[in-house]
Amino acid sequence: MTTTRDLINDANDYLMNTYSQFPVVIDKGRGAEVFDLDGVKYLDFVSGLAVTNLGHCYPNVVLAIQKQIQSLIHISNLYYNKPQIELAALLVQNSFADRVFFCNSGAEANEAAIKLARKYSFDKFGHGRHEIITAFNSFHGRTMATISATGQERFHTGFEPLLDGFHYVPFSDIDAIYRMVNEKTAAIMMEPIQGEGGVIIPSQTYFAELRELCTRKDILLIFDEVQAGMGRTGKLFSYEHFGIEPDIMTLAKGLAGGMPIGAMLARDSVASAFTPGSHASTFGGNPVSCNAAIAVLEVLLEESALLQSTQETGEYIMESLIPMKKVCPVIREVRGKGLMIAIELTVPGGPVVEECLKNGLLINCTAGNIIRLLPPLNITRDEVDTALHILDKSLRKL
Ligand SMILES: *Cc1c(COP(=O)(O)O)cnc(C)c1O
Repeated sequence: MTTTRDLINDANDYLMNTYSQFPVVIDKGRGAEVFDLDGVKYLDFVSGLAVTNLGHCYPNVVLAIQKQIQSLIHISNLYYNKPQIELAALLVQNSFADRVFFCNSGAEANEAAIKLARKYSFDKFGHGRHEIITAFNSFHGRTMATISATGQERFHTGFEPLLDGFHYVPFSDIDAIYRMVNEKTAAIMMEPIQGEGGVIIPSQTYFAELRELCTRKDILLIFDEVQAGMGRTGKLFSYEHFGIEPDIMTLAKGLAGGMPIGAMLARDSVASAFTPGSHASTFGGNPVSCNAAIAVLEVLLEESALLQSTQETGEYIMESLIPMKKVCPVIREVRGKGLMIAIELTVPGGPVVEECLKNGLLINCTAGNIIRLLPPLNITRDEVDTALHILDKSLRKL
C-alpha cells in the first residue's frame, strides 16, 4: 500500500518545487469536508482557493460532468459546442457584458483582457496608447503579462524584464489615479476586492469615481473578478456592490465548481476589437468545464437564498470574531464581504494555519499575516461553529 509518507517522498523527488505544501494528501471531498489518505477528516475553509464554492463534488456539478464526459470531452473551437454557447448566454444574461471569450484559468482570462484592451485602444487611437494602470498589492496571475500587471515586487523579482506598459497606484486612492492617467492610458485594471493581497475592500465611492473618469476619457475599466466573482461576496459579481459596471470582466476560480475554466467578458463595443485570429485557446470553452459551470450558475441563479445566506453567514462569522478579537491581542483587524473574510494578525499567520490543520480545519494565510477564510457558500452554521471553535483554540495558542 502506498502510504502518505511514500507519496510525499515521491512528490519531493518528482514535482517541480513551486509550492510549500502541507504534509497531507487529500483523497476525497464531500461538501465542506475533505478526507486525507488515512481517512482523517478536515473542514475545508480554503475551497481550493475560492474554487469549490458549492463544496466538494456538488451533486449537480458531478452529474453535469458525468453526462458531458460520456458524449464529448473536447472539440476544437473550429466547431461549435452546445455547453459553451449555453454558458456564454447565461453569463451575458446575468451580467453587464454582451460577449464571452473562454479559456482555462484566471491568468489566461487576464491575458485575454489585457490583449483586448490594447487592441481596442490601438484600433481607436493607434500606436502608443497601450498603458494599463493597476493597483499595488494586487494579484492578477503568474504569466509574464499578469505578473507585470500584479503590483507586488515579490512576484517580479528574478523574472525581469517585465512586460512594458504597466503602472501601479495605491488601491482605493482616486487622486493617485488622476495623477497617473495620461494620453497613453488604455485601461485601468483592478480587483473589486483585493484577494491575495489580504481581502482589501475599497471605499464605497472609489469605483464610482473611477468609472466616471474612465467613461470620460474612453479608458477601459477592467475588473478582475477571478476570486471575488461567482457569488463569493454575496453578489453574483462583486461589481454589483459598487453600483457601477466595468467594460471588461474576468472570471475563473469558482466558475465551474472545480473544473478548470477562465472567462473574459466585455461589452459589444469593446469585444468587437477581437476578430477571427485575434486570440484563441485550444482548451478554451471545453464542453465538460462549461457544462459544470452551467450547473454552478443554475444553483447561484435559481437558489437566490444562497447569495443571501452567503452575506448572512459572512456577517455571522465576522460578528463571532469580534469577541475573539477582544481576548486575542494578535488579531489586528477582521474584515470581509460575504464569505471572503480576512483576519489580519500582528504576527505571521503560518503557525495558526498549522495548528488549525492539526485540529482538522483547513485555512489559508496570505500576505504573511492575514488569515483568509473562504468556506463554501453553502456552509452550514454547525460547520461554521466547528471551524470558529478550532480557530479560537489555535489563536489562543499563539
Ligand atoms: C487566483 C487569481 C488569479 C490567477 O488565477 P489562476 O487561475 O491561478 O491563473 C488572478 N486574479 C485573481 C484576483 C486571483 O485571485
